[in-house]
Order: sequence, then structure tokens, then C-alpha cells
Amino acid sequence: MADKAVFVDRDGTIVGLVYDKETGYVDSITRPEQVKLLPGASEALKRLKDSGYKLILVSNKPEIAKGRVDEETFWETQRVIEDRLRNSSGVEFDGIYFCLHHPQAIVEKYRADCECRKPKPGLILKAAKEHDLDIKNSYLVGDDILDIKAGRAAGCKAIMLGHANSTILQILDDEGLKVEGIVGSLNDALRIILSDSHGSEERYKRKGLSNGTK
Ligand SMILES: [Mg+2]
Ligand SMILES: [Zn+2]
Repeated sequence: MADKAVFVDRDGTIVGLVYDKETGYVDSITRPEQVKLLPGASEALKRLKDSGYKLILVSNKPEIAKGRVDEETFWETQRVIEDRLRNSSGVEFDGIYFCLHHPQAIVEKYRADCECRKPKPGLILKAAKEHDLDIKNSYLVGDDILDIKAGRAAGCKAIMLGHANSTILQILDDEGLKVEGIVGSLNDALRIILSDSHGSEERYKRKGLSNGTK
């Protein structure tokens, strides 16, 4: 039987973003010393795994393509993230899928209008095929509309990390994107996912309890 999975974004979902003083933008990290796991993220991922979900990282990483970071530093940064997760809760990904492309890349080998860059569903579909995953009962969790789009295009349920302000709600509505929730952390996303998978069982138990006490 195919496994269920949680496809998770990396920056802004598992690790914090950085404020770039030069550009004034909040951006993805590019160096190992910038790695900071978001509070509760490691434990939430571990609990998802313990609950029977395969854990798949799906991440657009155009920073090498754009010349913001060299290959070695990029992979070292990723290694530090995996080490931190392993050391804090023991969790490990079942699969890691990066899109390293960008249509306007300055590094030629990554210049491509590819099928894997989110919002396209390529990364998720590839992972689903390679790990024999039950897409319909899987979740995508990410902090960007592009994540949600990719997840929905692939056929998963989606949970957005962020604030449910009017702009976000308007965009989701305009794009026709259904989400299971807009929440503040991976831990909140975990709660939605677990209440979904145990939903029928819990309802049954509650019913049994009320019958017994009346
Ligand atoms: Mg992100
Ligand atoms: Zn790609």
C-alpha cells in the first residue's frame, strides 16, 4: 500500500529566513552559520514521521543559479540543517528534492524553464513516483503561495504557514486554492494533519463515551 507523506518546504517553514541589510529583503539563508531551526519544527517533523507519514523536503533553491552562493556552501548549509534536525529530535527526511534551476540563471547549467520549480508540481510528482506515495492523502506544508500552488497542482492537501490576512485570503481565493488551514507553525500544521488522520476514530470514541455516560 502506498504511504502517505508530508511534503515540506525548507526556508520559512523549517528554518528561519534572514534579513538582508544590503537589499532590504527578507530572504533564504545561504550560509551554514545562518541556520536556525524554527521553534518546534524538528519535534513536529518527528511526530509526523512517528504517525506514519513519509517526510519529503521539496524546495526551490535558485541561489546557486543566481550566483548568491557557491555549490559547496549550499550543500554544507543543507548538511547543517539535517544535522540540527537529527540532533534535536532524531528526525530524518525520507527524501530530499531540490529545484536548483532558474529561468534567468547566471550559472548556465542551472538556466532552465524547468518542470520542477514550484509552483509547478514536478518535485512532488517525482518524489511520489520514487517513493510510491499516496498523493491524495498527503499534505504539502509551506510558507509561500507557490508552495500551496505546487501542492494543489500535484493533488495533495495543503497547509499554509503564515498569517491569514486579507491579502493572502484574497490571493488564495483568486487562484482558487483550497487550504486545510493557515497556521503559525509546523506544530500547528501537525495538529491539523493528525486530527485528520485520527478523525474518524476520535469521533467514534467520543460517541461511545457519551452513550456510556447518559
Ligand atoms: Mg519557504
Ligand atoms: Zn527545476
